[in-house]
Amino acid sequence: MRKHIVAGNWKMNKTFSEGIDLINKIINKSEPLQNVQLIIAPPFILTSEAARLAMNKNIDLAGQNCANHDEGAYTGEISARMLKSSGATYVILGHSERRAYYHETDEIINTKIKLCLENSLTPIVCCGEVLEEREANKHFEVVAKQIKGMFQDISSEAFKNIVIAYEPVWAIGTGKTASPEQAQEMHLFIRETIKNIYGSDLSNNVSILYGGSCKPSNAKELFANPDVDGGLIGGASLNADDFIAIANSF
Ligand code: PEP
Repeated sequence: MRKHIVAGNWKMNKTFSEGIDLINKIINKSEPLQNVQLIIAPPFILTSEAARLAMNKNIDLAGQNCANHDEGAYTGEISARMLKSSGATYVILGHSERRAYYHETDEIINTKIKLCLENSLTPIVCCGEVLEEREANKHFEVVAKQIKGMFQDISSEAFKNIVIAYEPVWAIGTGKTASPEQAQEMHLFIRETIKNIYGSDLSNNVSILYGGSCKPSNAKELFANPDVDGGLIGGASLNADDFIAIANSF
């Protein structure tokens, strides 16, 4: 049985007190959820306090990014080891906003994945095509290239600690969700690509999340697909009721 996961990416939203308020609301509403792992990825300033509040609850903390260096003179950066020490157990890596605005390449993401794994953090590794690539029917090619690049030299043993998120860039923050058929088709393709690299055991066991305008009204039909194991949620994760309703959609 693959793990069902619903992860909230808060991006650059919420002050410290607003964030604590949202975390407390999510904790209060999350109690009855048993068959899904909840993860929240608040801005770094909230990680340690959120981890303290969520202790012994079914909620894990994630970073939204980490540095591609172990430590040293990298002003403004947060290392995988620092994140781990603050109570995070997951890290979102390779989000399309990091690729677009901070020029992250598959090679940089590959380095970050290795640093996270060395520090016992589970990477939630994002992939996905932009609109022009889908319209040119290049979406499979693009995603396969991202996967091969990002997992270069990652051993089978290490890959056991990976979560993948398929996030078509044209669906992120746009209100335009991939159809359940489009999501299933790509998730199956990703699983096949993983199978070609790591074999069927690992490909059958890796959780693949869908991300891109997922909300309470469409989560059920997306999660009903056999290869969709949950969601990476942006906008809707900023509202506790919506986030929990999505998690209740399995
Ligand atoms: C995201 O940025 O990971 C995301 C899925 O955003 P949204 O849900 O707002 O489309």
